[in-house]
Order: sequence, then structure tokens, then C-alpha cells
Amino acid sequence: MNNREGSRPPESLDAEAAEAAAAQNTATRAVRSGEHQVPPHSPAVTPVYQTAPFMFDSAEALVAGFERPDQRGLYSRLANPTVRVVEEKLAALEGAEDAVAFASGMAAISGTLGTLLEAGDRLLTAADLYGGTAAWLAWLVERHPSIELESIALDDLAERLERGVDERTRGVYLETPTNPLLRCCDLARVAAACQRLGVVLIVDNTFATPVLQRPLTLGATYVVHSATKYLGGHSDLTAGIVAGPATAMAEIRRTQRLGGACLDPHAAFLLARGMRTVALRVERQSENAARLVGLLRRHEAVVATYYPDDAMARRQMSAGGAMVAFEVRGGLPAANRLLDSLRLFTIMASLGGVESSVVLAAVTSHKNLTPAEREAQGIGDGLIRLSIGIEEGSDLEADLAQALSRVAG
Ligand code: PLP
Repeated sequence: MNNREGSRPPESLDAEAAEAAAAQNTATRAVRSGEHQVPPHSPAVTPVYQTAPFMFDSAEALVAGFERPDQRGLYSRLANPTVRVVEEKLAALEGAEDAVAFASGMAAISGTLGTLLEAGDRLLTAADLYGGTAAWLAWLVERHPSIELESIALDDLAERLERGVDERTRGVYLETPTNPLLRCCDLARVAAACQRLGVVLIVDNTFATPVLQRPLTLGATYVVHSATKYLGGHSDLTAGIVAGPATAMAEIRRTQRLGGACLDPHAAFLLARGMRTVALRVERQSENAARLVGLLRRHEAVVATYYPDDAMARRQMSAGGAMVAFEVRGGLPAANRLLDSLRLFTIMASLGGVESSVVLAAVTSHKNLTPAEREAQGIGDGLIRLSIGIEEGSDLEADLAQALSRVAG
């Protein structure tokens, strides 16, 4: 990433705190990092700084504050202490030098790629992407035709990179596991190829979360998240975060401050609260998911089950996660019947919450794609995507079994 003129120096995490966090396990980092003692009251939990401006006690302090905003309080589009908590937590969880929080996952993705890409650049992207990301990239190249995208099947990405890239190529963007088919990419191999070529690797880690997978430790340059999902974990906010090297984060923060896609302090408070329990939730959700995958794989009404538990997924993820996709015999009519028969799975267009949920990918996350594009990605009209929550696993299993029995009949 270029250091453009006028950019601010990196405002990275306190080095000592970062070193201490690196020695801790994920669950500990999720609870402990980003919390600072703030006199005179020193609340144990950072409160919502529900304010747009912050006060300065002198004209001199005002000038100094605007000379170098310190991310802890200035004007909330530029810096807010509650927002800073989630940035520090994510940086600690992903093992990054710094992080920048945004108003949504799409704001984080567009803010990151919008900072990275310049006229004439080429970006290699995995063919399987969240529909919103694919739609934003299509909009970008329509608006800026000198930017070129090269879409590559996830399985071919490493080989494509190993054949070399030209000097226009700035980076590679991918998700693993993917939405909705849960395909995985060999992160260590792709990251090694990127490092050899001197291009950046950006990984959307929304589905795995840093609890199960840490792309930066495998060699990726940036990690982006829809924090709306597992990091928040309660389906009550929208947020996004990017984490990576301090110099690059300073550039992205500058883009964000200029464009104004800042995270609201109240959403940040809810997000910090959610992040403290992310390890517990994701572990429980993964256990529940593995149990339901067993049922789906045995069931006569199911023609295909998608879940990342093959050897490669196991190498880079500590568990398969809480997303499961499957197809039932009988296509779309049977899929609709199944959705209507489920009692414990909320029909909703999101994922990653404490409640189990279900959608048809073709009409929600991938609605923006054309039918031909969906078919090329293997997303049939009847593909069902489950997001497994923290309810008792046996209750979820019984509910899915009764709904499947109605489809099989
Ligand atoms: N990345 C992935 C993998 C997603 O599933 C989503 C949303 O579903 C996004 C990014 C976009 O996040 P948001 O809805 O918070 O903008």
C-alpha cells in the first residue's frame, strides 16, 4: 500500500500491551484486551461514550488534539473511546498491529479495497465471494474501468499465483470458508505465493472468526470481518473491522475519516460486549454444528451437505465452525417446505447470532448475482444455509430431524 502524501503516522497499539496479548489464549484476549482504566471513575467495562464531540480544557489542547487525534476522544467520526475498545480487541484476537472499525462489514471491505486500489491496478479475487462484496467490486470496475479484476476458482488460486503475476497486480482478496458453500482455500500456500510476489493478501475471516482461524499468522496481510455476525454475536448491530499492519491501518483510517463510514459508539459498546464471549459462543456453536452435520449426512432426504471438515480445513481451522449448507431432495419446493417446518431456526438474512437461523442463499446473500453467476458458483435455488446457534444441541437436532421427515415423506 502506498504511503500517500499527507497521511498520518501510524497510531498503533501500545507495544507492551500487544506483546502481553500475544502470549495469551484467544478466550483471554477476547475478555481482557482493549479495556483500559480511565480515571477518575475507572469503570470495569468501558462505557458508551455517547457523544459526538469531546471537550478540551484550553485552546492549546484543542489545537494539539486536532494535530494528532489519538483515537480515544476528539470528534466521534474521527475517534471515540468505545470504538477504540473493539479495534484493540480485534487486533489482539487476530494478532495484528492495529485495526480500524467501520459502520458495517461492507464499509470495512470497501474502505480497505478503496484505499488499496489505484487507477490501473489489478486485483485477483476468489470466484466465491459474499454477494455484497461481488456486487461492490462489479460497481467499482464499472466506475473505474482502469481497475481490473481477475476472478479465479478458489481451488486454482494458489497455482495461478505460482505461475506469477504482472506488476499491475496489487493483491488477492478471498473468503475462507466461503459463503454459502463453505469451501476452503489453503491459506498458508496462497499467502506464501503472495509474499514471494510482493502482493497483499486480504482475507474475509467472518465465517471462521479468530477463534477458529487466524489468517495473519498464516501469512495474510489484512483480515476483514463483518462484525455484524459472530464478533457481535447477538444479531443486534451492524459493524465491520479490518486488521493488519499499523502503517496500512493508518492509511485505511484516513480513508474512513474522510468518507465518514465510522462505527457508532452505541453499536461499538454492544460489539465489545459481544466480543468478550466470542470464544465461548463459537466453540459451542461449532459443537452443535458438527452434531447437525452428522444428521444431515446420514439422512435420506439430503442430497449434499457442505461443511469444512476435510484435511485442509482441519490444518488451518481448529473446528469446522457454525455454518452448514445442504440441499434436499426435491429442489426449491422441498427446500421451502423444510424452512416452513423448522420451529427453532429463525428465517432471517443474517448469521452468526446466538439463535439458530436458516435462509435460502439464492434469494438472500447471493440475490445480487445473476442466475448464471450463481450456477457457476454452484449455488442452486434450493441451497439451504444454516447458522447454528448456542441452543441445546439435542433440541436443534430434534427440530431438524422433524423438518427433514416432512420433506422425505
Ligand atoms: N462478508 C461476509 C462473509 C458476509 O457474509 C457479509 C454479510 O453477510 C459481509 C461480509 C458484509 O457484512 P455487513 O452485512 O456487516 O455489511
